[in-house]
Amino acid sequence: SKSNESLMQRRQAAVARGVSAIHPIVADHAKNSTVVDVESREFIDFAGGIAVLNTGHLHPKVIAAVQAQLGKLTHTCFQVLAYEPYIELCEKINARVPGDFAKKTLLVTTGSEAVENAVKIARAATGRSGVIAFTGGYHGRTMMTLSLTGKKVPYAAGMGLMPGGVYRALYPCELHGVSVDESIASIERVFKNDAEPRDIAAIVIEPVQGEGGFYPAPKEFMQRLRALCDQHGILLIADEVQTGAGRTGTFFAMEQMGVAADLTTFAKSIAGGFPLAGVCGKAEIMDAVAPGGLGGTYAGSPLACVAALAVLEVFEEEQLLDRCQAVGERLKAGLRDIQARHPVIGDVRGLGAMIAVELFDAGNPEKPNAELVAKVVARARDKGLILLSCGPYYNVLRILVPLTAEDELLDRGMAIIAECFDELA
Ligand code: PMP
Repeated sequence: SKSNESLMQRRQAAVARGVSAIHPIVADHAKNSTVVDVESREFIDFAGGIAVLNTGHLHPKVIAAVQAQLGKLTHTCFQVLAYEPYIELCEKINARVPGDFAKKTLLVTTGSEAVENAVKIARAATGRSGVIAFTGGYHGRTMMTLSLTGKKVPYAAGMGLMPGGVYRALYPCELHGVSVDESIASIERVFKNDAEPRDIAAIVIEPVQGEGGFYPAPKEFMQRLRALCDQHGILLIADEVQTGAGRTGTFFAMEQMGVAADLTTFAKSIAGGFPLAGVCGKAEIMDAVAPGGLGGTYAGSPLACVAALAVLEVFEEEQLLDRCQAVGERLKAGLRDIQARHPVIGDVRGLGAMIAVELFDAGNPEKPNAELVAKVVARARDKGLILLSCGPYYNVLRILVPLTAEDELLDRGMAIIAECFDELA
């Protein structure tokens, strides 16, 4: 029989080392919020494949939809021969993305590709080529998105400079001393020092930073950003790749911000474990790109489209947005109990069920404790719980458990986290 160790050895020999191995575990099968490895050990999954499994592993509705589609067709290339699930999904996404205007949608395969295309569309629509992105932002691993991503090591390490025309503003984060005023001022500084507003096509922002540490942008900031964009004819791109598909308590996080983006990117949980991503935006902006300028061979695969349509139905039928709030409250309450015993947990935060704790020493946010986070992640795994870290110093523990997880499973996971802190902190 196969072991994690022997397969990890084969992995090491055969797979490029740039593809990191967070856990030395090889999965065999999974269901809803648990994964079983090749040694038949069961784990509670608080990682959700990095925010992809809001509806859980193998949701029966999603799998049934894909199985039915397997009997019809798996590929035509949408540009060659259209198929209804792609069209229907775009109609549904247009209706769900915030913004009181006519919308159109493009489907692609990965979050990075969605962001790449959002930038291309913004350039075509404005005739400008500059982009402003934020400190700590994560937008992907392709060349353009690496420019946008506000963390060079490890993502761009050794690869040299990335495409130009990207300017960096400060992401608002009270915990680390960046006020809304200071963040807005940093954009004004870009306008003054680096690029005139008339050369900026778009400002790209995550409504809640994901990889950067689960920091929600204040609503007031988003409104001022919208006003600044309007003042200068700059497009606002909301990167909802991680926040979207119901993770934050609304289907898109921007619904809680009181303003709409011109372009919205989505991916990850939208198709319940199948590869699908896209860009939705104002119809006339989306249509700035001429026929042939957008698309891709596999973009909007029929299998992924029917999976996404099923995900949208599951959200309605199982009232997962309500469930999201309940999951988030339960996790936050549990984490605050642990925090009460362990002051190294300096902050418990999150929007909806996008929940994180940040570890720092002596109550000083500028003293990140990444060592303890790494220890907790490893110890939790030994106890049967899969966790992830994030943040600029990897000193943030984040939870992306399926919204379909039962309370009992959430409590078991939280009990393991509590044990880890009791043993290690
Ligand atoms: N944008 C955000 C906000 C993300 O969180 C991610 C993935 N973590 C991406 C873009 C890139 O998505 P992908 O890995 O599917 O290319």
